[in-house]
Order: sequence, then C-alpha cells, then structure tokens
Amino acid sequence: MTKTLVIGAGGVGSVAVHKMAMLPEIFTDVTLASRRQIKCDEIAQSVYARTGQKIDTNEIDADDTEATARLIERTGAQLVVNLALPYQDLSIMDACLKAGADYLDTANYEPRDEAKFEYSWQWAYQEKFAKQGLMALLGSGFDPGVTNVFTAYTKKHLIEDMQTLDILDCNGGDHGQHFATNFNPEINIREVTAPARHWDQGQWVETAALQDKQVFDFPEVGQRNMYLMYHEELESLTHHFPELKRARFWMTFGEAYLKHLEVLQNIGMTSIEPVNYEGHEIIPLQFLKAVLPNPGDLGKTTTGKTCIGTIITGQHKGQQKTAYIYNICDHEACFREVGSQAVSYTTGVPAMIGAAMMLTGKWQGKGVFNMEQFDPDPFMEMLNQHGLPYQHILLDQPLDF
Ligand code: NDP
Repeated sequence: MTKTLVIGAGGVGSVAVHKMAMLPEIFTDVTLASRRQIKCDEIAQSVYARTGQKIDTNEIDADDTEATARLIERTGAQLVVNLALPYQDLSIMDACLKAGADYLDTANYEPRDEAKFEYSWQWAYQEKFAKQGLMALLGSGFDPGVTNVFTAYTKKHLIEDMQTLDILDCNGGDHGQHFATNFNPEINIREVTAPARHWDQGQWVETAALQDKQVFDFPEVGQRNMYLMYHEELESLTHHFPELKRARFWMTFGEAYLKHLEVLQNIGMTSIEPVNYEGHEIIPLQFLKAVLPNPGDLGKTTTGKTCIGTIITGQHKGQQKTAYIYNICDHEACFREVGSQAVSYTTGVPAMIGAAMMLTGKWQGKGVFNMEQFDPDPFMEMLNQHGLPYQHILLDQPLDF
C-alpha cells in the first residue's frame, strides 16, 4: 500500500498520473492537487476513462507551505511528486519536512524575480532531509532526469574515464502553430533567453544566448540546427563526475520559433520586470504566457518525434570510445496513449519512474539527491517497459565541434 500526492495538474502532471494509474501494484493510492480543482478533475476523468483507476483530487496553493503540509498529512502521502512550477520547489520541500514525506521534482528551484538556475538552494536542504530520515530526488524528468541516468549508465557500463559530455535535445515535432512552447511558456522562455553556459577545463564559460549553432543529424528525425544553452543538469553532472573536462547542452530550434522569440524579446514581451498597465502591475512574460497556446493542448495537432540523448567520449580499457544513448518519442503515439504530446510525456514518464524507484525502495537514501547518484539499471529497465525505450550506439569518433 503506497500513498502518493502529485502537485501540478499541467501537461507533465497529467502524463505522470496516467502512467501511475497504469501501475496500480506500485501506486495504490494517488491524489492529484493543483491550483485549480477543475484541472485535476478533468485529468482524473481521463485517467478513469483510459485505465479504470480512480484518483483523488484536491485544490492547493503550493506556495502556501502550511496548507501544503496539512494536505500531505490529510492524504497520508509518503511521497510528494512536485510537477507544479520551479517557483514552488522550496515551499513544497518545506511542507514535506513539516509533514514527514519524501519529495521528488523535475526542475530546479528558480526565484520568480530572477532567471537563475542552480541547485544551491535545494542542495542546502541536504542536512534537513537527512536529519529527518527523508529523501528528496531532484530533477526526475528527461533533461534533467533521464540524461543524468544515461550518464551514470555510460560510466557504469561503457566508459570508465568519461572526458566530454554533450546532451542533445531535439524536438523534431510540428504543432502547426506560429509560435508555441513545448512546456510552460514562462519557464521555457526564461530558460531559452538566459545566457548559454558550458563547463570547460574546470570552469564555466558563458556566451550569449542562442549564438553558438551546430547542425546535427538526429536518428529518425534528420538534420536540425541546435544551439548551445545552459541546462541545470550540467551543474550536478560536473559535480558528481568531476573527471568530465567538458560538458555542454544543445537544444534544437526552428527558424520560425527563433524569429518570433527575437521579436518578442526586442519589444520587451519576454521581460520579467513588472510594468504598470492601467493601474495594474503586470509581468510581460506572464502576460505573454496567457496569450500563447497552452502546451497541454498541443497534443491534438503535434506530429513528428523527439530525440534526446547523451554523447560521451572517454577512455575505456586504454581505448578512446564515444557512446551515444538516446530515446526517440513519437508525439502522436503519446497522444493516443495518454492524451499529451511528447514533451509532457518524456517528462511525466520519468517522474513516474523516479517515484516508483523511491516507493519500491530500489533507490533509497536520506538527504537530497540527483539522479546520477543512484544505480541507473533499474531506472533504465523501467524506461524500456513504460514507453521511453533507449537505444545505445558507439560512434566511430568524437563530435567534431
Ligand atoms: P504547466 O504550466 O502545464 O503545469 C504546471 C501546473 O502547476 C499547472 O496546472 C498550474 O496550475 C500548477 N501550479 C502553478 N502554480 C501552482 C501553485 N502555486 N500551487 C499549485 N499548483 C500550481 O507546466 P508543465 O506541466 O509543462 O511543467 C511542469 C514542470 O515540469 C515545470 O516545473 C517544468 O519546468 C518541468 N519540466 C521539466 C522537464 C524535464 O525534462 N526535466 C521538461 C519539461 C518541463 P494552473 O493550471 O492553475 O496554471
């Protein structure tokens, strides 16, 4: 008998609870809570229609630690799966400490007034979780998440001395909209417009956003332009694998996306500085989110595939070796299965698997952990069984850029 509380009824939360309902032997009792009850109820109806499983629903403002702790106590949850926004990470971690529950999320904490991505705030909870004998698992989505597990798997099975890591995130899908983001627009645009940063010879190198472009031929997707970006898993991976001399993150963007984004930036619509509009203080980026398509609704029209993976070069048994591990995910297949597009799917499934690792005791610990700190094998096995099978190939040579 397990009790899980999922917070956040968006695109990712919807996939996670659908997948939990498909595994009732692990997730016996699931509650979905979010800012709006109606969104939870809609998802619960879809879960029931697709799986025959009932989940409970609740309304919660997860910025309110006291109320969240009371909800955890009321539901008896032993694990809280935080699929709300990165702004809520610390208040939900505090609620878990108050109510005595384990914690999992898919994105690192960000303060609302500063687009700053780093683990320092959450790593600072190490002592508090350890002291109470509780576990917090950070970043159990795809990237961060599966990419961390792929790196740990490469280290364990393929390359004993890893030297360079490249994470390649390609969404080869087409949603038929002029401009839309694949997940929460506010979080996505904050991430994409932040300066790029990569790890090189023991230090961070910062460059302007979306400047460094390479072309890569993605399996089952084809050639795409990809851009150097900063992504939070670079911080934990270079911390836990200090032998890495270089670590970079690349994401593909189409011409239309970049053109729209440039215009929106130029006219100030992506700013997080409040402006006064007819007596109300509004944040341009939050207003922009309100007029953009809801990523959760893109599933109906999205076609094509995602391809996300890691390319790692290093020395193994005295030989240079380059290993590429990736997953291909089909937008339309995801929509048929759970009613969501592949970006929500590739995040919600690993959130479910991370939760399963914790509830079954396959991953155990006291304190705050990143994904690469645990044995990758049982997680990789579940990826294969639950919709995100991985492929692994050896490349003839390292990346030439
Ligand atoms: P959505 O915006 O679709 O969903 C977020 C949900 O959280 C919404 O239902 C929202 O409510 C709810 N919410 C927001 N604030 C609160 C609050 N204070 N209290 C309770 N509920 C709240 O986002 P996504 O589903 O696309 O993304 C969810 C998370 O997944 C994000 O943190 C995102 O960064 C992360 N992510 C991680 C990825 C990875 O690979 N690691 C990839 C993609 C996303 P309402 O509906 O009322 O707005």
